[in-house]
Amino acid sequence: MMLHLNDLPLKDKRVLLRVDFNVPLDKEENIVDDTRIKASLPTINYILERGGKVILMSHLGRPTSLKESHLSLKKIGQRLEVLLGEKVIFSPDCIGPQVEALSREIKPSTVLLLENLRFYEAEEKPSKDPQFAKNLAMLGDLYVNDAFATAHRYHSSTAEIAKYFSGKKAPGFLMDKEIKQLSYLIQDPQRPFYALVGGSKISTKLGILKALLEKVDALFIGGGMAYTFMKAQHISIGHSIYEEDLVQAALDILELGHKKNIPIYLPIDFVVAKSPQDISSIKIVTRNEGIEEGYEGLDIGPKTIYQWQNFLKNAKTLFWNGPMGVFEVPAFAKGSNGLAEFFGASKALTVVGGGDSIAAIKALHLEDQIDHLSTGGGAALEFIEFGTLPGIEALRTL
Ligand code: AMP
Repeated sequence: MMLHLNDLPLKDKRVLLRVDFNVPLDKEENIVDDTRIKASLPTINYILERGGKVILMSHLGRPTSLKESHLSLKKIGQRLEVLLGEKVIFSPDCIGPQVEALSREIKPSTVLLLENLRFYEAEEKPSKDPQFAKNLAMLGDLYVNDAFATAHRYHSSTAEIAKYFSGKKAPGFLMDKEIKQLSYLIQDPQRPFYALVGGSKISTKLGILKALLEKVDALFIGGGMAYTFMKAQHISIGHSIYEEDLVQAALDILELGHKKNIPIYLPIDFVVAKSPQDISSIKIVTRNEGIEEGYEGLDIGPKTIYQWQNFLKNAKTLFWNGPMGVFEVPAFAKGSNGLAEFFGASKALTVVGGGDSIAAIKALHLEDQIDHLSTGGGAALEFIEFGTLPGIEALRTL
């Protein structure tokens, strides 16, 4: 059984809230995109309005040593203060007697933000020091997890900590929404249900490709990973990105699709160039022609976009993860943009997961036309694959 935020008695309670403030920073350490901070506001406001004390914890980046000052959450606290219109008290550590005292002193309807959890190795490796999760747990009377994007990791603050809050824990609104929308995809999607998967590698998406074949009515594979499939079919791919050790895995996926009678669509033409930087060498080649030596495939071609869009027209449910080409270079973004536009205009229920696909949607200002933009890339894929995540299971109360 899982409680919900509105089941918890929040008044005067210290609510330890795990959020995902892992925002992208530029070289000068400015926040490039504060979507993740904004996404946590409904849960924070809800707790504050009911007289709870909000104690926020998050990670930021991948610190390689303790206390990397450029990865401090202090600047996130300053942005949060502006977005929230409330004072945010910053604690320069996430555990220890000082922050414990602070957690007891703060008044109802106040926000306290803890320093980057990953300044402690035990955040990512709970077994190294189980006391770390216990120390965090001492800061709250209730535990709420709203960090869907890290819920696929069994970390101290996302899973281990939940042990100390039996009957006193729940998902936040963002986590709730993700669970609801993604469950719909895997439990009872309106059909036909089609999925499009791109990105650079098969190795990171092998599980999801197999899992999707159990759920969809057709699968479309683009991006860099398509070339390993082509190699498996003995089509020349020039020096396109491909994973030699996954040629057999690609064949197995094609075989599985065949066995299940689920069509797998691969691109029928490509935008190729000598390198992503050498725009003057761009040309379009068909799959039958293959890609000659010295060239690499960098996007799906116009015939593919046309064919796929035509096929996808009758969809009732659509899922997309991963770019169709090197979309960071505008000359190779037509495939991803074409799909983003199609998703925006589609009447089907549309779900998009993964930072790059969402970036393509946002660049075209189509975010309001997509039914669900998942805040988790890896987490969304693992949820679809396994039906749950460690951070979600940890919230269950027996
Ligand atoms: P992923 O993180 O696996 O979803 O991969 C995203 C990355 O894949 C993006 O940075 C794209 O530039 C890259 N990508 C997509 N298509 C290709 C391609 N044909 N060749 C090389 N990289 C690609």
